[in-house]
Amino acid sequence: MTMVYSDFRSDTVTRPTEKMRKAMAEALVGDDVHGDDPTVNELERLAAETMGKEAALFCPSGTMANAIAVKMWTGPLEEVIVEERAHIYNMESTHMTFLSGVTPRPLRSNRGAMDPADVAAAVRKPNVHTPRTTLVCLENTHNNWGGSVLPLDNFKAIRGIADEHGLKVHLDGARIFNASVASGVPVRDYAREVDSLQFCLSKALSAPVGSVLVAGRERIEFARRLRKALGGGMRQVGVLAAPGLIAMTEMVDRLAEDHVRAKALARGIAGLPGVKIDPESVETDIVIFGFDHPALTVEAMIGKMKEKGILALAIYGGIRMVTHKDVDDEDVERAIRAFREILA
Ligand SMILES: *Cc1c(COP(=O)(O)O)cnc(C)c1O
Repeated sequence: MTMVYSDFRSDTVTRPTEKMRKAMAEALVGDDVHGDDPTVNELERLAAETMGKEAALFCPSGTMANAIAVKMWTGPLEEVIVEERAHIYNMESTHMTFLSGVTPRPLRSNRGAMDPADVAAAVRKPNVHTPRTTLVCLENTHNNWGGSVLPLDNFKAIRGIADEHGLKVHLDGARIFNASVASGVPVRDYAREVDSLQFCLSKALSAPVGSVLVAGRERIEFARRLRKALGGGMRQVGVLAAPGLIAMTEMVDRLAEDHVRAKALARGIAGLPGVKIDPESVETDIVIFGFDHPALTVEAMIGKMKEKGILALAIYGGIRMVTHKDVDDEDVERAIRAFREILA
């Protein structure tokens, strides 16, 4: 008998909705490298409008969108300020150094929010020895800090420092819609404080593929050339933009459900032997908790959960579980039950 899993590894595991599949089948398409795909053009128009920026670029992945952003804002001998657990620094196969030839400057933070004073102190005065600081990268929500929401005030303060020193600011907004739904701050208010941002269609928003990079018109024209250089120019890709449009227009409001379930999961396992979590710290769809048990390593715990049909990931000496469209209340209850049985 095959096991049916409740898959909490990531919100990237969501499958497209029936409506998305239908939209894919029926999408109007053209050669997007020639600018001829009406569905891609519509997605890029909607993304720019939603974020209050001039232009947008549909990219195959968030990693490529972030890589293009770093490349379009930096040059040789330069440095980029990042938060020390940032996805762009830790989880994107070193494109900063590999593709852009810049050094990352990781800073400590309070759950993903860097202290503006630390950012100011990290800006280098260039001389013959040191790189020039030219870019700051923010991440909201912050994946490796358990989906934490960065306060808008933190954006504003870092924007101020950036302006003082002539730096650009890029936002890795893979889950910016989760941040907005959780905080009530419109996405364009976050976007206003940055020069560029990218957001993912293929995570909780449930589209099968794609991210969108948003910035001023001239930068996006350059970004389009960079995307081609990286092999990201795609042809009749309206078939992927079509579910992306549904992701943006119909999948945002339901994110609140994921946040409620993530908190319920955290509450359900808090206090069990070995589980170290404050349920109040869970703000969006990601639950990351320390696991320190005398008889079970993290890997052993994840193995035992898998035997009970629950999939989770090991991260930072702990465990990561994410709620999304394809797990419901029953899956959450099943996960809590599995934890209680294993740790009884
Ligand atoms: C998922 C993610 C990305 C991009 O990931 P891809 O898998 O390349 O689409 C970027 N930043 C954060 C914070 C992410 O969670």
